[in-house]
Amino acid sequence: MKVPMVDLTAGYPPIREEIETAVKQVFEKANFILGAQVSEFEKEFAAHNGAKYAVGVNSGTDALRLALLASGIKPGDEVITTPFTFIATSETISQAGAIPVFADIDPERYTLCPKSVESKITSKTKAILPVHLYGMPAEMDEIMAIAKKHNLKVIEDTAQAFTGKYRMADGNWKYLGTIGDCGTFSFFPAKNLGAFGDAGAVLTNDDAIYEELKALRNHGSKIRYIHEIEGFNSRLDTVQAAILSVRLKHVEKWTEMRKAVAAKYAEALKGFCATPVVPENCRHSFNYYTIRFDTKEQRDNAQKYLTEQGIANQIYYPIALHLQKAYAHLGGKRGDLPNAEKVQDTVFSLPMYPELTDEQIKLVTDAVKASLKK
Ligand SMILES: *Cc1c(COP(=O)(O)O)cnc(C)c1O
Repeated sequence: MKVPMVDLTAGYPPIREEIETAVKQVFEKANFILGAQVSEFEKEFAAHNGAKYAVGVNSGTDALRLALLASGIKPGDEVITTPFTFIATSETISQAGAIPVFADIDPERYTLCPKSVESKITSKTKAILPVHLYGMPAEMDEIMAIAKKHNLKVIEDTAQAFTGKYRMADGNWKYLGTIGDCGTFSFFPAKNLGAFGDAGAVLTNDDAIYEELKALRNHGSKIRYIHEIEGFNSRLDTVQAAILSVRLKHVEKWTEMRKAVAAKYAEALKGFCATPVVPENCRHSFNYYTIRFDTKEQRDNAQKYLTEQGIANQIYYPIALHLQKAYAHLGGKRGDLPNAEKVQDTVFSLPMYPELTDEQIKLVTDAVKASLKK
């Protein structure tokens, strides 16, 4: 591969010593399960985001599952979400016993369309689960207003959007994941803040949700062997927490580097395809850089051509969830959510990581342009 999708080896050498020192401390103390580094990272992560609490868990998927349960989602409830996301978003709604209800997306922003959300509300609706897709903030003012009007919980899937921000109607900038009742994060290695394995966290400002999350991640137990509820083994690993604390100190700089790559992509591709348009009240985290073509044929040609040239690329996501076999029981069909269906057929994502060089960026953008001329 001349240009990979992400290069996880590039970020290691500059912080090797810091990481190795942090990890050795865990090894020497052998406090592997809920060691002091877990609560230290939780405090740092909450403070970074301006949230009251963070609870470390074992993945972004469990962050969603536990956030839904801690928010009081019960079997038979309906949770409105986007069909244009990774399946973890909807899978965890089902795992909480609830029913995912897919609303359509905005055709340019790719996040939940507030109007479509409102049209899906029934007497069973209990929550809205927006996803800040690729790092683009969902329209949170509108979503929060709908939630308030209908008394719904809001859980923000912030797996791809740590360091993203949104300026609320009152003028306050907020980190994504701190606007709704809970924000869920993934520290999967390729996310903005990657661990060296699986890890995740939930942010909340709500005391009761916080207490519930802490119990749920550790077998429903706050005091050892005293169980008021059943829970899970979903703890954040101490070694990962130690690594995350080190990497957290660098993450804003990495997002700035991603933004610089994005600006160069946008400049070079101007007039050739649709590049991300970041509204002035938003900070995009650029976990992914996704472009859109006029037709599926152009997209498919570009994908084929880039692959032939040794340039990695990926369609996030080729089949919207309402059309997946896993959700056949919900009866979704083509035509139900036209924006999501159009977008799945016309987007693809280019290599994106902080250390991408100008030379690599030129290789990628020249290839996209050449594919359109063929
Ligand atoms: C990565 C991701 C998840 C799941 O996170 P894991 O840590 O891999 O479990 C959930 N939602 C979205 C949108 C994601 O991109």
